[in-house]
Amino acid sequence: MKILIKKNILKVICLMVFLPQCTVKEEGIIMTVNGPILAREMGVTLVHEHILVDFIGADLINAQRWDKSKVIERSLPFLKQIKDMGCQTFIECTPAYLGRDPLLLKILSSSSGLNILTSTGYYGAGNNKYLPQHAFDENADQLAARWIMEWINGIDNTGVKPGFIKIGVASGNLSDLHKKLVLAAARTHLKTGLTIASHTGPAIPAFEQLEILQSEGVAPEAFIWVHAQVEKDLSSHIKAAKMGAWIGLDGLSDNNVEDYVSMIMNMRENHLLDKVLLSHDAGWYHPGEENGGEFRGYSTLFEKLIPALKNEKFSEKEINQLCVINPSKAFKISVHKIR
Ligand SMILES: [Zn+2]
Repeated sequence: MKILIKKNILKVICLMVFLPQCTVKEEGIIMTVNGPILAREMGVTLVHEHILVDFIGADLINAQRWDKSKVIERSLPFLKQIKDMGCQTFIECTPAYLGRDPLLLKILSSSSGLNILTSTGYYGAGNNKYLPQHAFDENADQLAARWIMEWINGIDNTGVKPGFIKIGVASGNLSDLHKKLVLAAARTHLKTGLTIASHTGPAIPAFEQLEILQSEGVAPEAFIWVHAQVEKDLSSHIKAAKMGAWIGLDGLSDNNVEDYVSMIMNMRENHLLDKVLLSHDAGWYHPGEENGGEFRGYSTLFEKLIPALKNEKFSEKEINQLCVINPSKAFKISVHKIR
Protein backbone atom coordinates (compact mmCIF):
# COMPACT_ATOMS: atom_id res chain seq x y z
CA MET A 1 0.00 0.00 0.00
CA LYS A 2 2.74 2.38 1.05
CA ILE A 3 4.63 1.58 -2.14
CA LEU A 4 1.52 2.18 -4.22
CA ILE A 5 0.99 5.62 -2.67
CA LYS A 6 4.64 6.49 -3.19
CA LYS A 7 4.38 5.39 -6.84
CA ASN A 8 1.30 7.51 -7.38
CA ILE A 9 2.87 10.58 -5.80
CA LEU A 10 5.87 10.10 -8.08
CA LYS A 11 3.57 9.81 -11.09
CA VAL A 12 1.81 13.07 -10.17
CA ILE A 13 5.13 14.87 -9.73
CA CYS A 14 6.16 13.53 -13.13
CA LEU A 15 3.01 14.77 -14.78
CA MET A 16 3.19 18.17 -13.12
CA VAL A 17 6.84 19.01 -13.45
CA PHE A 18 8.94 16.62 -15.45
CA LEU A 19 6.56 15.10 -17.94
CA PRO A 20 8.80 14.94 -21.01
CA GLN A 21 11.81 13.59 -19.13
CA CYS A 22 9.78 11.06 -17.16
CA THR A 23 7.96 9.78 -20.21
CA VAL A 24 11.20 9.41 -22.09
CA LYS A 25 12.89 7.65 -19.20
CA GLU A 26 10.04 5.21 -18.68
CA GLU A 27 9.45 4.41 -22.34
CA GLY A 28 12.94 4.73 -23.75
CA ILE A 29 14.20 6.51 -26.82
CA ILE A 30 15.68 5.63 -30.18
CA MET A 31 18.32 7.92 -31.70
CA THR A 32 17.63 8.67 -35.36
CA VAL A 33 19.76 10.79 -37.70
CA ASN A 34 17.27 13.60 -37.04
CA GLY A 35 17.40 13.27 -33.25
CA PRO A 36 15.62 11.20 -30.61
CA ILE A 37 12.15 9.70 -30.92
CA LEU A 38 10.21 7.55 -28.47
CA ALA A 39 10.77 3.82 -28.95
CA ARG A 40 7.02 3.32 -29.28
CA GLU A 41 7.01 5.69 -32.28
CA MET A 42 9.34 3.45 -34.27
CA GLY A 43 6.57 1.43 -35.91
CA VAL A 44 7.35 -1.21 -38.51
CA THR A 45 11.14 -1.37 -38.72
CA LEU A 46 13.74 -2.93 -41.00
CA VAL A 47 16.69 -3.55 -38.69
CA HIS A 48 19.53 -4.18 -41.15
CA GLU A 49 19.67 -2.46 -44.54
CA HIS A 50 22.08 -0.30 -46.52
CA ILE A 51 21.90 2.73 -48.79
CA LEU A 52 25.49 2.83 -49.98
CA VAL A 53 28.49 0.56 -49.41
CA ASP A 54 31.97 1.36 -50.74
CA PHE A 55 34.43 -1.56 -50.64
CA ILE A 56 37.46 0.50 -51.64
CA GLY A 57 39.01 0.07 -48.16
CA ALA A 58 39.77 2.29 -45.17
CA ASP A 59 42.93 3.74 -46.74
CA LEU A 60 41.20 5.17 -49.80
CA ILE A 61 37.62 5.86 -48.82
CA ASN A 62 36.30 9.42 -48.72
CA ALA A 63 32.92 11.04 -49.23
CA GLN A 64 34.04 12.61 -52.51
CA ARG A 65 33.86 9.16 -54.08
CA TRP A 66 30.09 9.49 -54.45
CA ASP A 67 27.70 12.23 -55.51
CA LYS A 68 24.99 12.50 -52.86
CA SER A 69 22.39 13.71 -55.35
CA LYS A 70 22.96 10.64 -57.56
CA VAL A 71 22.73 8.27 -54.59
CA ILE A 72 19.49 9.96 -53.54
CA GLU A 73 18.04 9.73 -57.02
CA ARG A 74 18.82 5.99 -57.10
CA SER A 75 17.78 4.99 -53.57
CA LEU A 76 14.83 7.26 -52.71
CA PRO A 77 12.23 5.38 -54.83
CA PHE A 78 13.05 2.17 -52.89
CA LEU A 79 12.59 3.98 -49.57
CA LYS A 80 9.31 5.55 -50.71
CA GLN A 81 8.11 2.12 -51.81
CA ILE A 82 8.51 0.60 -48.33
CA LYS A 83 7.10 3.73 -46.67
CA ASP A 84 3.96 3.17 -48.76
CA MET A 85 3.92 -0.46 -47.56
CA GLY A 86 3.84 0.66 -43.91
CA CYS A 87 7.52 0.77 -42.97
CA GLN A 88 8.34 3.63 -40.59
CA THR A 89 11.94 3.05 -39.49
CA PHE A 90 14.99 2.02 -41.51
CA ILE A 91 18.20 1.03 -39.77
CA GLU A 92 21.17 1.75 -42.02
CA CYS A 93 23.95 -0.63 -41.01
CA THR A 94 26.88 0.68 -43.05
CA PRO A 95 29.80 1.26 -40.67
CA ALA A 96 32.41 4.01 -40.74
CA TYR A 97 35.08 3.45 -43.44
CA LEU A 98 32.56 1.47 -45.53
CA GLY A 99 30.44 4.40 -46.71
CA ARG A 100 28.63 5.66 -43.62
CA ASP A 101 27.31 9.09 -44.64
CA PRO A 102 25.17 10.72 -41.93
CA LEU A 103 24.28 13.79 -44.00
CA LEU A 104 23.11 11.65 -46.91
CA LEU A 105 20.93 9.70 -44.47
CA LYS A 106 19.50 12.92 -43.02
CA ILE A 107 18.38 14.05 -46.47
CA LEU A 108 16.93 10.62 -47.28
CA SER A 109 15.07 10.56 -43.97
CA SER A 110 13.45 13.94 -44.63
CA SER A 111 12.65 13.10 -48.27
CA SER A 112 11.21 9.65 -47.58
CA GLY A 113 9.48 10.30 -44.25
CA LEU A 114 11.26 7.28 -42.74
CA ASN A 115 13.14 7.40 -39.44
CA ILE A 116 16.73 6.38 -40.25
CA LEU A 117 19.44 5.28 -37.81
CA THR A 118 23.20 5.25 -38.32
CA SER A 119 26.01 3.72 -36.28
CA THR A 120 29.32 4.14 -34.52
CA GLY A 121 31.95 1.38 -34.31
CA TYR A 122 34.35 -0.44 -36.65
CA TYR A 123 34.01 -3.42 -38.96
CA GLY A 124 36.78 -6.01 -38.71
CA ALA A 125 35.36 -8.64 -41.08
CA GLY A 126 36.73 -8.67 -44.65
CA ASN A 127 40.34 -9.24 -43.53
CA ASN A 128 40.45 -5.94 -41.63
CA LYS A 129 40.44 -3.99 -44.90
CA TYR A 130 37.85 -1.58 -43.50
CA LEU A 131 39.71 -0.74 -40.30
CA PRO A 132 41.63 2.55 -40.08
CA GLN A 133 45.26 2.39 -38.89
CA HIS A 134 44.36 3.63 -35.40
CA ALA A 135 42.13 0.56 -34.91
CA PHE A 136 45.31 -1.53 -35.03
CA ASP A 137 47.38 0.84 -32.88
CA GLU A 138 45.01 1.88 -30.11
CA ASN A 139 43.68 -0.16 -27.20
CA ALA A 140 40.01 -0.98 -26.51
CA ASP A 141 39.53 1.99 -24.19
CA GLN A 142 40.92 4.42 -26.76
CA LEU A 143 38.62 3.03 -29.45
CA ALA A 144 35.66 3.13 -27.07
CA ALA A 145 36.52 6.77 -26.27
CA ARG A 146 36.27 7.64 -29.98
CA TRP A 147 32.87 5.95 -30.30
CA ILE A 148 31.58 7.51 -27.08
CA MET A 149 32.63 10.93 -28.41
CA GLU A 150 30.50 10.33 -31.51
CA TRP A 151 27.56 9.68 -29.20
CA ILE A 152 28.23 12.83 -27.18
CA ASN A 153 29.22 15.26 -29.95
CA GLY A 154 27.82 13.69 -33.11
CA ILE A 155 29.70 12.13 -36.04
CA ASP A 156 32.39 14.20 -37.85
CA ASN A 157 30.92 17.64 -37.07
CA THR A 158 27.58 16.72 -38.63
CA GLY A 159 25.70 16.85 -35.31
CA VAL A 160 24.23 13.44 -36.25
CA LYS A 161 24.40 10.93 -33.40
CA PRO A 162 24.69 7.18 -33.79
CA GLY A 163 21.65 5.07 -32.89
CA PHE A 164 23.64 1.87 -32.26
CA ILE A 165 27.13 0.34 -32.31
CA LYS A 166 28.01 -1.63 -35.44
CA ILE A 167 31.04 -3.88 -35.34
CA GLY A 168 32.07 -6.80 -37.55
CA VAL A 169 34.14 -9.91 -36.85
CA ALA A 170 35.42 -12.76 -39.01
CA SER A 171 33.50 -16.03 -39.16
CA GLY A 172 35.92 -18.25 -37.17
CA ASN A 173 37.39 -17.95 -33.69
CA LEU A 174 37.95 -14.32 -32.72
CA SER A 175 41.40 -12.87 -33.39
CA ASP A 176 42.96 -10.61 -30.75
CA LEU A 177 42.15 -7.61 -32.94
CA HIS A 178 38.49 -8.58 -33.17
CA LYS A 179 38.36 -9.34 -29.44
CA LYS A 180 39.52 -5.76 -28.95
CA LEU A 181 36.65 -4.44 -31.11
CA VAL A 182 34.17 -6.43 -29.01
CA LEU A 183 35.73 -5.09 -25.79
CA ALA A 184 35.51 -1.54 -27.13
CA ALA A 185 31.86 -2.13 -28.05
CA ALA A 186 31.13 -3.49 -24.55
CA ARG A 187 32.68 -0.44 -22.90
CA THR A 188 30.89 1.94 -25.28
CA HIS A 189 27.61 0.21 -24.49
CA LEU A 190 28.08 0.63 -20.74
CA LYS A 191 28.69 4.37 -21.18
CA THR A 192 26.02 5.09 -23.81
CA GLY A 193 23.30 2.42 -23.69
CA LEU A 194 23.69 1.92 -27.45
CA THR A 195 22.91 -1.61 -28.65
CA ILE A 196 25.71 -3.63 -30.25
CA ALA A 197 24.92 -5.07 -33.70
CA SER A 198 27.80 -7.28 -34.75
CA HIS A 199 28.29 -8.69 -38.24
CA THR A 200 28.94 -12.27 -37.14
CA GLY A 201 27.47 -15.13 -39.22
CA PRO A 202 28.24 -18.54 -37.66
CA ALA A 203 27.69 -19.55 -34.03
CA ILE A 204 31.38 -19.82 -33.01
CA PRO A 205 32.15 -16.08 -33.06
CA ALA A 206 28.62 -15.30 -31.77
CA PHE A 207 29.16 -17.19 -28.53
CA GLU A 208 32.75 -15.96 -28.18
CA GLN A 209 31.48 -12.38 -28.40
CA LEU A 210 28.76 -13.07 -25.83
CA GLU A 211 31.42 -14.42 -23.51
CA ILE A 212 33.51 -11.25 -23.80
CA LEU A 213 30.48 -9.03 -23.28
CA GLN A 214 29.51 -10.95 -20.17
CA SER A 215 33.07 -10.77 -18.82
CA GLU A 216 32.73 -6.98 -19.13
CA GLY A 217 29.40 -7.02 -17.27
CA VAL A 218 27.26 -6.48 -20.40
CA ALA A 219 24.10 -8.59 -20.59
CA PRO A 220 23.32 -10.46 -23.86
CA GLU A 221 20.21 -8.27 -24.29
CA ALA A 222 22.61 -5.58 -25.57
CA PHE A 223 23.82 -7.81 -28.43
CA ILE A 224 22.38 -8.48 -31.88
CA TRP A 225 23.79 -11.57 -33.58
CA VAL A 226 23.80 -10.15 -37.11
CA HIS A 227 23.48 -12.63 -40.01
CA ALA A 228 22.48 -15.49 -37.69
CA GLN A 229 20.81 -17.12 -40.72
CA VAL A 230 24.30 -18.20 -41.84
CA GLU A 231 24.33 -20.68 -38.91
CA LYS A 232 22.39 -23.73 -40.07
CA ASP A 233 22.31 -25.43 -36.66
CA LEU A 234 19.11 -23.80 -35.46
CA SER A 235 19.68 -24.98 -31.89
CA SER A 236 22.33 -22.21 -31.71
CA HIS A 237 19.63 -19.61 -32.39
CA ILE A 238 17.65 -21.06 -29.50
CA LYS A 239 20.64 -21.17 -27.19
CA ALA A 240 21.68 -17.53 -27.85
CA ALA A 241 18.09 -16.27 -27.63
CA LYS A 242 17.60 -18.06 -24.32
CA MET A 243 20.69 -16.24 -23.04
CA GLY A 244 18.95 -13.00 -24.03
CA ALA A 245 20.69 -12.11 -27.32
CA TRP A 246 18.80 -10.86 -30.37
CA ILE A 247 18.77 -13.19 -33.37
CA GLY A 248 19.14 -11.24 -36.62
CA LEU A 249 17.63 -13.11 -39.57
CA ASP A 250 18.55 -10.33 -41.90
CA GLY A 251 19.36 -11.62 -45.39
CA LEU A 252 15.79 -12.00 -46.61
CA SER A 253 15.27 -11.98 -50.39
CA ASP A 254 12.68 -13.24 -52.86
CA ASN A 255 14.70 -16.48 -53.19
CA ASN A 256 14.76 -17.57 -49.55
CA VAL A 257 11.35 -16.76 -48.08
CA GLU A 258 10.65 -20.42 -47.22
CA ASP A 259 13.94 -20.71 -45.30
CA TYR A 260 12.99 -17.65 -43.28
CA VAL A 261 9.55 -19.07 -42.52
CA SER A 262 11.24 -22.26 -41.21
CA MET A 263 13.74 -20.35 -39.06
CA ILE A 264 11.01 -18.12 -37.62
CA MET A 265 8.78 -21.15 -36.95
CA ASN A 266 11.68 -22.80 -35.10
CA MET A 267 11.81 -19.74 -32.85
CA ARG A 268 8.03 -19.74 -32.38
CA GLU A 269 8.00 -23.42 -31.41
CA ASN A 270 10.54 -22.57 -28.72
CA HIS A 271 8.56 -19.53 -27.50
CA LEU A 272 11.33 -17.20 -28.59
CA LEU A 273 9.56 -15.10 -31.19
CA ASP A 274 10.30 -12.13 -28.95
CA LYS A 275 14.04 -12.39 -29.74
CA VAL A 276 13.87 -12.37 -33.58
CA LEU A 277 14.83 -9.42 -35.79
CA LEU A 278 14.05 -9.46 -39.52
CA SER A 279 15.55 -7.59 -42.46
CA HIS A 280 16.97 -7.89 -46.00
CA ASP A 281 20.55 -6.55 -45.88
CA ALA A 282 19.55 -5.02 -49.21
CA GLY A 283 20.27 -1.84 -51.16
CA TRP A 284 23.89 -0.98 -51.85
CA TYR A 285 24.68 1.83 -54.20
CA HIS A 286 28.26 1.00 -55.23
CA PRO A 287 30.43 4.08 -55.86
CA GLY A 288 32.47 3.68 -59.02
CA GLU A 289 29.83 1.57 -60.80
CA GLU A 290 27.47 2.86 -63.49
CA ASN A 291 24.47 4.44 -61.69
CA GLY A 292 25.63 2.70 -58.49
CA GLY A 293 25.38 -0.80 -60.01
CA GLU A 294 22.63 -3.24 -59.12
CA PHE A 295 20.34 -2.00 -56.33
CA ARG A 296 18.18 -4.51 -54.44
CA GLY A 297 14.94 -3.19 -52.93
CA TYR A 298 13.58 -3.74 -49.42
CA SER A 299 10.07 -5.02 -50.09
CA THR A 300 10.25 -8.84 -49.74
CA LEU A 301 9.23 -8.73 -46.07
CA PHE A 302 6.03 -6.90 -46.97
CA GLU A 303 5.24 -8.60 -50.26
CA LYS A 304 6.27 -12.20 -49.55
CA LEU A 305 7.32 -12.99 -45.98
CA ILE A 306 4.36 -11.54 -44.06
CA PRO A 307 1.82 -13.27 -46.36
CA ALA A 308 3.81 -16.53 -46.01
CA LEU A 309 3.74 -16.21 -42.20
CA LYS A 310 -0.01 -15.58 -42.31
CA ASN A 311 -0.35 -18.80 -44.31
CA GLU A 312 1.33 -20.55 -41.38
CA LYS A 313 -1.30 -19.08 -39.05
CA PHE A 314 0.87 -16.35 -37.58
CA SER A 315 -1.46 -13.88 -35.86
CA GLU A 316 -1.40 -10.10 -36.33
CA LYS A 317 -0.05 -9.92 -32.80
CA GLU A 318 2.89 -12.20 -33.65
CA ILE A 319 3.68 -10.24 -36.81
CA ASN A 320 3.52 -7.02 -34.82
CA GLN A 321 5.93 -8.60 -32.32
CA LEU A 322 8.41 -9.37 -35.11
CA CYS A 323 8.19 -6.12 -37.05
CA VAL A 324 7.37 -3.49 -34.40
CA ILE A 325 7.86 -4.61 -30.79
CA ASN A 326 11.18 -6.47 -31.15
CA PRO A 327 13.02 -3.68 -33.03
CA SER A 328 11.82 -1.08 -30.53
CA LYS A 329 13.10 -3.18 -27.63
CA ALA A 330 16.36 -4.08 -29.36
CA PHE A 331 17.31 -0.50 -30.31
CA LYS A 332 15.96 1.30 -27.25
CA ILE A 333 18.81 3.18 -25.63
CA SER A 334 19.35 1.40 -22.35
CA VAL A 335 22.35 0.04 -20.46
CA HIS A 336 22.07 -3.74 -20.06
CA LYS A 337 24.28 -4.73 -17.16
CA ILE A 338 24.57 -8.17 -15.68
CA ARG A 339 23.03 -7.91 -12.24
ZN1 LIG B 1 24.80 -5.55 -43.92
